[in-house]
Amino acid sequence: MHRHGDAVVKAVIGLDVGNTRITAAIVRASGEVLAMIRRPTDASGGANACYRQIEDMLGQLISTASERSIPISCVGVGFGGPVDYEGGRIMRSHHVSGWEDFPLRQLLREKFGLPVVLDNDANAGALGELLFGAAKRHRNVLYVNIGTGIGGAIISDGKLVRGENNFAGEIGHIIVVRDGPICGCGKLGCLEAVASGTGIGRRATELIQLGSIKTSLPKRSVTSKEVFEAALHGDELAMVVVDEAVEHLAHGLGIAITLLNPGIVIIGGGLSEAPEKLLLEPLRERVSKYVLDIALKGLEIVNAKLRYDAGVLGAAALAILEGGVNCD
Ligand SMILES: [Zn+2]
Repeated sequence: MHRHGDAVVKAVIGLDVGNTRITAAIVRASGEVLAMIRRPTDASGGANACYRQIEDMLGQLISTASERSIPISCVGVGFGGPVDYEGGRIMRSHHVSGWEDFPLRQLLREKFGLPVVLDNDANAGALGELLFGAAKRHRNVLYVNIGTGIGGAIISDGKLVRGENNFAGEIGHIIVVRDGPICGCGKLGCLEAVASGTGIGRRATELIQLGSIKTSLPKRSVTSKEVFEAALHGDELAMVVVDEAVEHLAHGLGIAITLLNPGIVIIGGGLSEAPEKLLLEPLRERVSKYVLDIALKGLEIVNAKLRYDAGVLGAAALAILEGGVNCD
């Protein structure tokens, strides 16, 4: 058995429920991963099929832990959609049906007899960076996850800010273009609608159809990955699209930075894989257009440190920091 001083060194289980995959891992408070399982999300089977996958994966890890005499003190769950944190319920998923008002925390607690903390994946991601990643040593953090959508989370004075409805930090739904393109939420001109991977792909596709800017991109629907790739090779249209997206991000981040005065802004998600000279570097420069110098003093804007395992490590951090249990 692992021992640390006199106390048994415990571990937690992190569970990341994403739209395309579900990942679960046994993680120590140091961030060391002792075991991990990853499966594609059974989205076609709806929430019930996903729930069975989750039960099965947790059951496997709990028996692994008991075989190896690792005491598990808490399970942290990061979910890719809105969550009622207080009630421990999923509110809905934008991609998988049947999650509406789903009492996930209670079901898992009853099934496994362990404390369970449930939150959205952006909040979990921010805590992961705080405990194991780029936000170590920071107390005021703005975390922005840019993928197919844009999620966000705020850590203020070392504490996650949830707000009244667990909606605080949702920077993706700050409106940056009045009467702009429609967002998944139904409003017009949200940052997510114009600067997410989906938004960037859509804008490029629109400009390709218009045909007024020179491009090597094909005349069909293109992805943000294709756009960044083309921009890297100097494609004129792709560069215009990336430039617009950076401007929108600088605008949205500028609003959040002015309100929160963070010490670090962390960009996570698929778009943080884009070349730094196309996204991060121009973003750092462009933000100063929207923020007073005093709020920019000492501000770092960096990519997330946790990459592929960010979701599951974030869920583990959620268990460690918010689980109300001493995990180490
Ligand atoms: Zn929106």
